[in-house]
Amino acid sequence: MKGKLVIFTAPSGAGKTTIVRHLLAHIENLDFSVSATSRPKREHEEDGRDYYFLSPMDFRKRIENEEFLEWEEVYEGQYYGTLKSEIERLWAEGKHIIFDIDVKGALNIKNTYPDDSLAIFVKPPSAEILFERLRNRGTETPESYRKRIKRATLELTYEDKFDVALLNDDLDAALIQAEKIVGEYLENE
Ligand code: 5GP
Repeated sequence: MKGKLVIFTAPSGAGKTTIVRHLLAHIENLDFSVSATSRPKREHEEDGRDYYFLSPMDFRKRIENEEFLEWEEVYEGQYYGTLKSEIERLWAEGKHIIFDIDVKGALNIKNTYPDDSLAIFVKPPSAEILFERLRNRGTETPESYRKRIKRATLELTYEDKFDVALLNDDLDAALIQAEKIVGEYLENE
């Protein structure tokens, strides 16, 4: 039997990565879909754990070879995508799969597997709070911060397109809520 797909999406900075990590630590038989990206590796990130870091040329070659289930140029010149081989690897291990992915990629996967996926949009309390969080994260250059604000503004308009909107105002409450939603979804075989 193929595992189910749990897709987490949100504007950058809404806290979805924290929620996804929490679920991985607390829900059995759930594993992370490691995406490929052409963006530079951040300090503390590990190749093969956080992302498969590819050169832009390698990424484009794999697009041509149709190796991706979906891919997006999320920021100008920075590609992100889900490799088909990654999903097959996790299914072969009998796992349910969780994704941390942008809004368009999330809709693509949802449309490819409508009956086997749950798509959750993590919603920040407000656009202002989201921008503030992004500013305080300290991982971005001014240029990349500017790109992220532009992108987040677009992504905020996507909320209605997903199965569930999960408000991340108080993080602890959001974690409990996420565990409940995903736990119930996976139990209902
Ligand atoms: P970051 O650079 O902060 O790690 O990620 C930037 C954005 O790209 C986030 O919204 C993240 O969820 C998204 N992303 C990560 N992996 C993928 C992927 O495989 N496909 C798509 N479409 N977006 C992704």
